[in-house]
Amino acid sequence: MNDLTQEQRSALAQMTAPDRFSTGDSNRDLHRFDFSHHRGVPPVGVIWPLSTEEVSRILAWCYEQEVAVFPWGAGTSIEGNPVPTAPGLVMDLTRMDKVLAVRPQDLQADVQPGVLRRSLNREAGRHGLFFPPDPGADATIGGMIANNASGVRTVKYGATRDYVLRLTVVLPQGKVIHTGCRAPKSSSGYDLTRLFVGSEGTLGVVTDATLRLTGIPSHHLSAVVTFKELHDASKAVAMLIASGLDPAALELLPANLIALINREKELGLPEVPSLFCEFHGVSPAALEETGALAKEVCEDCGATDFKSGVSSAERQRLWQARHEAAETILRAHPGDKSLTVDAAVPISLYPEMILFAQQVVAEEGVVGYVFGHAGDGNLHVVMPGNPEDAGTWSHVEAVNTRIVKRAVELGGTCTGEHGIGIGKRRFMRQEHGDSYDLMHQIKQLIDPKNLMNPGKIF
Ligand SMILES: Cc1cc2nc3c(=O)[nH]c(=O)nc-3n(C[C@H](O)[C@H](O)[C@H](O)COP(=O)(O)OP(=O)(O)OC[C@H]3O[C@@H](n4cnc5c(N)ncnc54)[C@H](O)[C@@H]3O)c2cc1C
Repeated sequence: MNDLTQEQRSALAQMTAPDRFSTGDSNRDLHRFDFSHHRGVPPVGVIWPLSTEEVSRILAWCYEQEVAVFPWGAGTSIEGNPVPTAPGLVMDLTRMDKVLAVRPQDLQADVQPGVLRRSLNREAGRHGLFFPPDPGADATIGGMIANNASGVRTVKYGATRDYVLRLTVVLPQGKVIHTGCRAPKSSSGYDLTRLFVGSEGTLGVVTDATLRLTGIPSHHLSAVVTFKELHDASKAVAMLIASGLDPAALELLPANLIALINREKELGLPEVPSLFCEFHGVSPAALEETGALAKEVCEDCGATDFKSGVSSAERQRLWQARHEAAETILRAHPGDKSLTVDAAVPISLYPEMILFAQQVVAEEGVVGYVFGHAGDGNLHVVMPGNPEDAGTWSHVEAVNTRIVKRAVELGGTCTGEHGIGIGKRRFMRQEHGDSYDLMHQIKQLIDPKNLMNPGKIF
């Protein structure tokens, strides 16, 4: 199918409202790209449902008409996850954006999928609670569930998967199911909730979710730790985790990225390999002890400075700078797209992976910023470049391939948090072996016509 017939357009328009279905060029173009270099084809239209019932009607109709559906959140993915790979309908969930309930006594919230992470945290914050997974970007909860997003605080608090208790999902044929429950734990049958978390919109559309929340920590301690070598910093990461200090964030930054951050944000940080750390605690005294121990561990690994006691305002600026690292890199390379490596390995092998990544970047002769959510063993290399320039881009791709292959050989994964999308499909067989076939069988069982976000994961 290359376009909708007039009859099909009328049917879709009738299922929603005139301002919630568009075949206009600008709307179609806006739903063709995520944050990655992957380019989609223009969808045949974009539809904005408001309820589970509408999603159900639209999916049932698309199933019958054999129209592919591409669920869409905030479009901040980094692997082409929501990007249309074939002419089909983009289902934009951003108008289903209500926090339906916050139940502070249960530490839970019920949300629609288009709620933005920051909006949820504003609501939860009124009760002294928050939803910890934090990808930096102001993503939708639906997109975070579909990608199993995580971020700087995952080292202490876990990924999105750890916060989803219950889901309402509309299956490709339009059937509505509920998975999980509101009890804090359950051993009841197959864990379908976790099947849908991380399924990248390939099995159905999430239309509401019950999420776990947690208490906002009362005291913070942030530290910037500097090293001569990135490798020493990565050794300190493994030691900090092994020492049971329970950091709430542990981020590794290289000198070339700090230089860009300084230039853009005027933070005046020493331009050497560094760790940004944060600890959460119940009292300043407890945190002081943690800080002293962390300093000792870092110094044993060759730290040249350990600056703690960062003020609240400074802390905000540091984390904002870290969150915006990918955008800062792109702004420093105007006109470029980027490819982001997202491998993860067991924490003890993190130093080895960092050395390997630096070596590969040098050997392939590309511009690469090696950093990551170090406390999770998660390594990123952001490589700006022009995908149209096949000669140079082949080296960018080679860096990604070599690092992913090594990570998988070391018992790790091709993606710690960004998902498979389009970019990581080719690594699935190496990582999962025969389990990849089982995943495919599950996909075929739930979506036999391959209409839900086709061309992703498989
Ligand atoms: C600057 C920057 C930094 C980032 N840093 C991180 C990071 O640290 N950690 C991290 O994990 N990610 C990071 N990301 C990636 C991105 O923010 C996350 O993957 C996020 O979860 C995407 O959410 P979204 O709302 O933008 O979803 P989209 O990109 O729109 O979609 C993501 C996937 O979800 C599917 N989907 C969307 N809504 C639904 C629904 N209701 N039901 C079923 N499927 C649905 C889509 O089809 C797609 O497969 C970063 C992105 C940027 C731009």
